[in-house]
Amino acid sequence: MSRFFIKVFVPGPFFEPLTYSTSAPVSAGIRVKVPLGSREVIGLCAGKANRPEALDTVKSVISMIDDEPIISTQHQALVDFTSNYYLAPPGDLLLSSLPTTLRKGKPIPEPRTEIGHNNSPAYQLTDDQHHAIEAVDQTANQFQCFLLQGVTGSGKTQVFSELIDRMIKRGQQILVLVPEIGLTGQMVRRIQDQLDGELCVSHSGIADGERTKAFIASARGIADVLIGTRSALFTPMPKLGLILVDEEHDGAFKNQEGCRYSARDLAIVRAKQMNIPVVLSSATPSLETWQQAELGKYRRLRLSARPGQPQPTIHLIDARYDRPKDGLSKAAKRAIRHAIDYGQQALVFLNRRGYSPILMCADCGWIPGCKHCDAKPTLHRQPDSLWCHHCDHHQRPVSICPECSGRSLLAIGHGTERLEEALAGSFPDVPIIRVDRDTTARRRAFEQLIQPVIDGQPCILVGTQMLAKGHDFQKLSTVVVTDADQGLSGADFRSVEHFAQLLTQVAGRAGRHGATGQVLIQTHRPDSEWFDKILRQDYDHLAKAVLLEREKFNWPPKSHLALITARATSSISVFEALEKVANQIRAWNSPVRVLGPAPAPMERRNRQYHGQLLILGKRSLIQWVLKETGPWAYKKLGKVIFHLDVDPWDLW
Ligand code: ADP
Ligand code: ZN
Ligand code: ZN
Repeated sequence: MSRFFIKVFVPGPFFEPLTYSTSAPVSAGIRVKVPLGSREVIGLCAGKANRPEALDTVKSVISMIDDEPIISTQHQALVDFTSNYYLAPPGDLLLSSLPTTLRKGKPIPEPRTEIGHNNSPAYQLTDDQHHAIEAVDQTANQFQCFLLQGVTGSGKTQVFSELIDRMIKRGQQILVLVPEIGLTGQMVRRIQDQLDGELCVSHSGIADGERTKAFIASARGIADVLIGTRSALFTPMPKLGLILVDEEHDGAFKNQEGCRYSARDLAIVRAKQMNIPVVLSSATPSLETWQQAELGKYRRLRLSARPGQPQPTIHLIDARYDRPKDGLSKAAKRAIRHAIDYGQQALVFLNRRGYSPILMCADCGWIPGCKHCDAKPTLHRQPDSLWCHHCDHHQRPVSICPECSGRSLLAIGHGTERLEEALAGSFPDVPIIRVDRDTTARRRAFEQLIQPVIDGQPCILVGTQMLAKGHDFQKLSTVVVTDADQGLSGADFRSVEHFAQLLTQVAGRAGRHGATGQVLIQTHRPDSEWFDKILRQDYDHLAKAVLLEREKFNWPPKSHLALITARATSSISVFEALEKVANQIRAWNSPVRVLGPAPAPMERRNRQYHGQLLILGKRSLIQWVLKETGPWAYKKLGKVIFHLDVDPWDLW
């Protein structure tokens, strides 16, 4: 029997494919079952291997799963780039880019798509929209990165729809990336409404089987459009002609587990590899993107006004005088009542879930902590618990203080649960809809919750940043931001940027149709220069100011970063291990700066101590240094476990 040798990508810390033998040739891109140590794993064939020298150690493929390759060379190229840039093993990346059922070796299902309704838009395009569409359309089959920068409500989604239409007419596929599941529903409906073609959706809220059908429909070129969250970026699309990234500033595009890739950044890489245009869209672009547009490397397309609709007015409420009771000032309550009386809806924004962030003994000031973290657990009422949001540890809320036996335990501050309770008290006649991670944990819960809002029924929405994003609610006229001080006190170098983006985005939900929107921001620091800039509703002005701050301290986008995190049960071993790594990096005498070792912002988390090293410098130098000191994936020194994050989104 003749023996063939193939290379196979397997999961695990392998930067090269492993060699196996087979009795028949296998093409690249076909799944195979192979032995690995004492296990059997699913791997992907990477093509023919040379005849190995140590023949008797070569193991045989157990079985071939597919008749045809399920990934293409195009797909492989994107994975190779990702592996190289984020220093992650390609086998892990390739396998995790497959939907779960395929990763487990299940057979390929029949593809499934949804058919578009092919309706015409109810309005004429504005000149800005027209211009943007033409500009992108003219670069078909060429690489060009665009920044579609339009104020909230300026009709970016309509531009997407038109571009999709043009690409389908050229026989090409379109990939639309959205940050969160909550956003996909509305986006899908709006795109499907005008779509003259077939569409697929992919995100973690969809059952595995359905996701696989969408994957196959895209990979076979049957789906014209794929709309999905960050992992959808790794879907093979043989006729891909355009990538659209909605709300490109959103942190959800950054993977925070396993390989910490940025789907937004990789979308640009993919477009470049395939020589096609990519459009990043946002009312509040990330500073990285904004600067590229300033430098002319990305082409900026502006939508400078809402079609036939003014921008909302924004006012500050000085909480030092109009003191919030139960989280809401008098002015805020009046505005909400006014909206409801006029048949409109109101949104009350608070970026903190649970009932109250702190429980405290009124007699001695004792505050319960989390057993496993440096964090204070949040008080939840539904159900009753003290819940640590960092390690998920739940404890029963105490009713007697363990320090002084006092019985007056006070809930201090507000979370969304408590605000919901207060709103129900002040507006007993109005339905209150709370939207946060706790109320939307079930599949489809978000869509069900939000339906009355879409239907235009009078109601008050209360919730976290899930409400800030992209939604287009016709009857929503009034937005109240209850605690704006929270965002200004963040310690991260991106805090101000993220705060300004969040405020602008929340404000942008108000008054998108009909009555002029009104936004009220409660703050104890109305004199902050940042409010002054946010009130102007001029994002460029704001971006310039934030960028200047960043440059002073050499933070991105001026420099590039890599964050090395280490964790273990003993703080000394974490520091020793990081020190070793720091010395190794410094020994290269390269111009990169190494900051640390330093404790992570929350040092003890989930029973472990966390420390960090930050590497600052030019992108290429950081890459070089990391490669020389790697491999980083699965890295351990004694009991210390490492993680590498290239271009971290935050320094957590
Ligand atoms: P963005 O994504 O920029 O926040 P949307 O695409 O959600 O904005 O558009 C806001 C609203 O304006 C939508 O309800 C949309 O139907 C409407 N719209 C878009 N383009 C036009 C236009 N040219 N004329 C009138 N209304 C429009
Ligand atoms: Zn006490
Ligand atoms: Zn904890």
